[in-house]
Amino acid sequence: MARSDVRLPAPSRHVPFLDVAAMHADVAHDVERAWREVFACRSFVGGTFVEAFERSFAEYCGVGAAVGTGNGTDSLTLILRALGIGRGDEVVVPTNTFVATAEAVLHAGARPRFADVDDRTLLLTPDSLTAALTPRTAAVVPVHLYGQLPDMPGIAAVAARHGLAVIEDAAQAHGALLGGQKAGSFGVAAAFSFYPGKNLGAYGDAGAVVTDDTELARRIRSLSNHGRLDGSNDTHGFVGTNSRLDALQACVLSAKLAHLDRGNAMRRSHLARVRSNLHGLAVTFPSVLPGVTGAHHLNVVRVRHRDAVRDELSRRAVPTGVHYRRPCHQIPCYRTGEIVLPVAERAAAELLTLPLSPHMTDDEVDFVSEALDAALDAAGAAGD
Ligand SMILES: *Cc1c(COP(=O)(O)O)cnc(C)c1O
Repeated sequence: MARSDVRLPAPSRHVPFLDVAAMHADVAHDVERAWREVFACRSFVGGTFVEAFERSFAEYCGVGAAVGTGNGTDSLTLILRALGIGRGDEVVVPTNTFVATAEAVLHAGARPRFADVDDRTLLLTPDSLTAALTPRTAAVVPVHLYGQLPDMPGIAAVAARHGLAVIEDAAQAHGALLGGQKAGSFGVAAAFSFYPGKNLGAYGDAGAVVTDDTELARRIRSLSNHGRLDGSNDTHGFVGTNSRLDALQACVLSAKLAHLDRGNAMRRSHLARVRSNLHGLAVTFPSVLPGVTGAHHLNVVRVRHRDAVRDELSRRAVPTGVHYRRPCHQIPCYRTGEIVLPVAERAAAELLTLPLSPHMTDDEVDFVSEALDAALDAAGAAGD
């Protein structure tokens, strides 16, 4: 790619980090129609719109049941609680994740045990799981970070040998596949978030648990609804919480689910274009394991002098993020003693998230690539 294409001062164009407006335009008509029906029937929490979404999302994920919840963090906590994992238990969590994964473990009363990640995929591996096991380990939460999938069969094999529950954090991986099997269908249960910026996003907070275990789904539904027993309004079987999906969000999610595969395919094709644009430059892309079709929630790359490169990109009107600046085991409120997880620690200094939206044009993809090329040069990260 020509190195002279981008000139300062910053061009007047602006590529959004995530084009939420375009994503809304796809479904605006369907959402408005469905919302008018909700207003007419005034069934705002639970009800037929929620049930319809739960059915279609379970079917989409290839599992028996989905339970709508308030958000992704609650989904993880509800799964742990429903499995009876809590005080005295440890749960293995990859340290390179959003804090919510660890937060949920603590909310359930258990302790997160942080594991290192693979240098190429930046995900949990069977070996890093094995290294984090103790006699107290009750479960593992593989995180499908950035919309990728780790070696789930390998992780399941370690879990089976040690009697651990596998709970997927699929908050970034709606529609990702491994060997033709959907994210969310590998573990005993999986947690999804429908935060607006996720690949399948609501217009507020929302989440779901998916599972093949109908008894577990029943317990989670009950827990998430003040411990109410099956459909009863005034019989409380145990101390639950309030984490339910509302009808307005369910309508948005049903409308958007129809666009999810196409959006993911567009993310993949943009990413392939960025990768080919940047071929030979000092940028490393995380590897996608064989057999994985990623959902590419985030376009994360590794570069040297990351913060300088970010500043240079910002001057060129390219918004970026860092996912995540600190591995969880180094965040003071999550620290559990002096553990060293060198791969994640090294990677964290280099992680840089570039804009990626289903609706980007080839032109915008090229603009971002050219800006990164120029930013690497300007920041002295081009491979000296
Ligand atoms: C977004 C996210 C969550 C939490 O979801 P919320 O809906 O924000 O509670 C958990 N884990 C990961 C990996 C996430 O990206």
